[in-house]
Amino acid sequence: METWQKNLKAAIIDLDGLAFYFPCDRESLSQVIDKYPMRISPYYLSLIQAPGDPIWRQCVPDLRELQEDGLLSDPLEEENLSPTPCLIHRYPDRVVFLATTSCAVYCRFCMRKRKVGCSSSDLESENFEAAIRYIEETSIVRDVILSGGDPLLLPDDHLEYLLRRLRKIPHVEIIRIGTRVPVTLPERITPKLCRMLKTFHPLYINTHFNHPLEVTSKSADACSRLADAGIPLGNQTVLLKDVNDHPETMKELMQKLLTIRVRPYYIHQMDLVKGTGHFRAEVKRGIEIMKGLRGHTSGMANPYYVIDAPGGKGKIPLLPDSVCFQEDMLVLKSYQGDVIEYPL
Ligand SMILES: *Cc1c(COP(=O)(O)O)cnc(C)c1O
Ligand code: SF4
Repeated sequence: METWQKNLKAAIIDLDGLAFYFPCDRESLSQVIDKYPMRISPYYLSLIQAPGDPIWRQCVPDLRELQEDGLLSDPLEEENLSPTPCLIHRYPDRVVFLATTSCAVYCRFCMRKRKVGCSSSDLESENFEAAIRYIEETSIVRDVILSGGDPLLLPDDHLEYLLRRLRKIPHVEIIRIGTRVPVTLPERITPKLCRMLKTFHPLYINTHFNHPLEVTSKSADACSRLADAGIPLGNQTVLLKDVNDHPETMKELMQKLLTIRVRPYYIHQMDLVKGTGHFRAEVKRGIEIMKGLRGHTSGMANPYYVIDAPGGKGKIPLLPDSVCFQEDMLVLKSYQGDVIEYPL
């Protein structure tokens, strides 16, 4: 067994484990984790400085997850857009491939809360074959996004097999992997994994940092190993109330990501997912955060702020009101609030 697998085995998954570190109300929390499993990797646990801090909030179960919040478990209608059990095909030219339901940490705000951690079996072979067959037969698909769960929790040989099968399909131009392990289990990014991944270029990785406290020397080293393997790294952040919903926090995060060679890609408005309502920050706040970035820091530190529209209508970027058409000119607003007239 590799070190990362041993460490994953030592993750906290029950209330005895949690109570060893933090006082907790077992009776109520046991209902939460019966419904939405808990897992906190030893490394991610070590980042917690005090109960209630931004790391703690992301991984420690909360009774509010069971509140009747009127939200749906699958507002993006991913299940309706599934041609086979582990694919989501929403946009014409790209598909999401759900390669596993396991993660190193079960984020309490996860948009796939309905699924993650719920089945111990990774890809059952018939679902896997059905997904590969669908992609083979659907020649408009040029971009395959491995997601889950966390695809990098698959053992190297499974992952390699999956990548090899995808690379055999001539119309699959690029492969992307969405993974949180650089943040939650950085030791998973082994030199051996990187040597394997680099044989499948063009391969892109989008990771998922949400807070400056997550940018540590270990996560930086993990990203370095990936970048040195020639893998362009992007980041998707979720806007989370009381975690990162502050312009200064978000600016610091975006800037720190650039120092570890990770390019901010998206900031996601929280999806309207059942059990996560207490994490929602207002859209107004998100716009304020975007205003705090544009012009005030490197353009490269500016991701798109997107809402994934309910009903599977896709991601829609939100921009601060910087453009306004008038009869014979365009009125622009600079990041400092200057109003500029510009010919049409
Ligand atoms: C986000 C998403 C994608 C990828 O979108 P990009 O904007 O290309 O990164 C593809 N399919 C689904 C279902 C998605 O949710
Ligand atoms: S790592 Fe991603 S898929 Fe897994 S629980 Fe966190 S947000 Fe959800």
